[in-house]
Amino acid sequence: MVPKDQPVLIVGGGIVGCSTAYYLSKAGFTNVIVIEAVDVAHAASGRAGGFLARDWCNNQPTQALAIRGFEIYSELTAELGVDIGYRHVNTLSLNLGSGDGRGDATAPGWVDGQVSNVSVLGTKGTTAQVHPGLATKALLSKAQEKGVKLLRSRVIAANYSEKKINSLLLESGETVPGETVILTMGPWTGFGLEWFGKSKIISGERAHSIVLKPEPGRVDDTALFLSLPAGETEVYPRPDGTVYVCGQQDEEPLPADPALVVSNPVMCADLLQAAYRVSSSLSGLKEESTSACYLPTVKDHKPLVGLVPGFTSLYIAAGHFCWGILQGPATGEALAQLILSGEAPESIQRLDPARIIK
Ligand SMILES: Cc1cc2nc3c(=O)[nH]c(=O)nc-3n(C[C@H](O)[C@H](O)[C@H](O)COP(=O)(O)OP(=O)(O)OC[C@H]3O[C@@H](n4cnc5c(N)ncnc54)[C@H](O)[C@@H]3O)c2cc1C
Repeated sequence: MVPKDQPVLIVGGGIVGCSTAYYLSKAGFTNVIVIEAVDVAHAASGRAGGFLARDWCNNQPTQALAIRGFEIYSELTAELGVDIGYRHVNTLSLNLGSGDGRGDATAPGWVDGQVSNVSVLGTKGTTAQVHPGLATKALLSKAQEKGVKLLRSRVIAANYSEKKINSLLLESGETVPGETVILTMGPWTGFGLEWFGKSKIISGERAHSIVLKPEPGRVDDTALFLSLPAGETEVYPRPDGTVYVCGQQDEEPLPADPALVVSNPVMCADLLQAAYRVSSSLSGLKEESTSACYLPTVKDHKPLVGLVPGFTSLYIAAGHFCWGILQGPATGEALAQLILSGEAPESIQRLDPARIIK
């Protein structure tokens, strides 16, 4: 249990860190600081698709987080009081290529490229979307209204003795005192574990995305999962009229500094070609933006959420891979409960870091 007036230092201003700050502030914690190296939602949490599925993590250790994560966004839309691009969507799987276009479903009219098979992956009851960057920023700004502070600086080390943390050291040379630290640095959380003498068991896989802006009214609210020879490509029309397209993973190593993430123009060009093949409403458009970000990956492919063994108040919440937007707010909510009560809620019990961090 952590007293509510003690400093709590959250390292990383992605969806997991900002959600944790939000739920801690809601629980009455009065001295929370989010330390972010570049900018809030600078990394995957600002560049992800924001696709949400209620049942796609069933029978996995993250099932409860996914189900709660699916519900939580309708609550958050009301609580945050700003547009976070949230809506329920129908979701289809498509094979592109020659064929009769038949399957167990029909593609919407704007999907007029050559499609060999169409099937239903989700309905408006089971799939939804949110704008990840808007949601992450809105969570932090609501938390800031309740006193949470944002410090823009990169943490480079920790001062601790035995099980007790004293402070974090910033790149600027300053130190930030605090006994309770939460590592929510997405793929960079492996570096954070090293500050505390632990193995770097989290890293990242790079993936690419582009955003297009078709003529108003040319696309609807159907999310598409495309099977292409080069891998899966996802196409998400958004409520703001843009269309987000992502895929194209590669093995480019994670840079130590999050400011140094770059994209591969060839991979972004491949995404553009995939969009052109799907729809004449997208064909010929120029990208509004192109980008890359890293999916946070843990060695055993499950997120780590809870207390780090060997420390009394070092917590970690990272490694949600391709489901961090879905599971991030539910993770923050569960972690805040753990910090407040000392008891891990059931939703994160199977994600206990002690399974892999010694
Ligand atoms: C292309 C793509 C599409 C995706 N689509 C979806 C989707 O549709 N649905 C879904 O649920 N998930 C999706 N994901 C996954 C999701 O984006 C991630 O799981 C999630 O954003 C991870 O959030 P995070 O807060 O853990 O980490 P991040 O968003 O990576 O945030 C970590 C933050 O820590 C900061 N940081 C790092 N080191 C330091 C340091 N030393 N000091 C201070 N700050 C530091 C970084 O600058 C960064 O802002 C997608 C991911 C990618 C790459």
